Amino acid sequence: MSEVIAIDGPAGSGKSTVARAVAERLGWTYLDTGAMYRALAIAARRRGFNIEDEVALGALSQSAKLELGERVLVDGDDVTDDLRLDRTNRDVSIVAANAEVRSSMVQRQRDYVATAPGGVVVEGRDITTVVFPDARLKIFLTASLEERARRRGEEDVESIARRDEADSTRTTSPLRKADDALFIDTTGRSVDLIVEEIVQCL
Ligand code: C5P
Repeated sequence: MSEVIAIDGPAGSGKSTVARAVAERLGWTYLDTGAMYRALAIAARRRGFNIEDEVALGALSQSAKLELGERVLVDGDDVTDDLRLDRTNRDVSIVAANAEVRSSMVQRQRDYVATAPGGVVVEGRDITTVVFPDARLKIFLTASLEERARRRGEEDVESIARRDEADSTRTTSPLRKADDALFIDTTGRSVDLIVEEIVQCL
């Protein structure tokens, strides 16, 4: 199994930027698990599924071929341009609360790391608590709601607050800080400083 740095935190906490920068600094691979849930939500809509149909979504999560790279493809269909749409922001928390979807995505994330050529920086909502509780380093990133909204740009404060609430209160794998995760508040701090702090902990 490759080494893992696991990063969790709410929307706009800086996870993607920091995770990508840490991966680049170390020459490791970066895995954005949020993109996997987003891709599935888009694929379900494009197929005309009711996003709340747990059985259909569960089946799709098992069968869909997900390709994650510069472009994100589901069964060969390019969903990249829809990843950050308002509609996707709305749908994704519903899809991500589905237990079968989660178990299928968790398995895929573990398989991804098992076959990665070196270390992997993995970010999401349940990475430190469920997917890789034994990761070499576990981090919980956060920032003030105002700063998180500013970073997200097109996603408004209400949408971010709604996703925070849904992600933190769902029954299956809610977003929470693992007891032994390093807590970092990124409010007003540069990416370089945070990357340095993380790399020093290795
Ligand atoms: O990180 P990002 O904002 O792209 O994640 C989108 C959504 O995917 C989150 O709001 C959450 O509902 C879901 N998610 C999750 N578990 C993960 C990653 C993302 O539930 N590991």
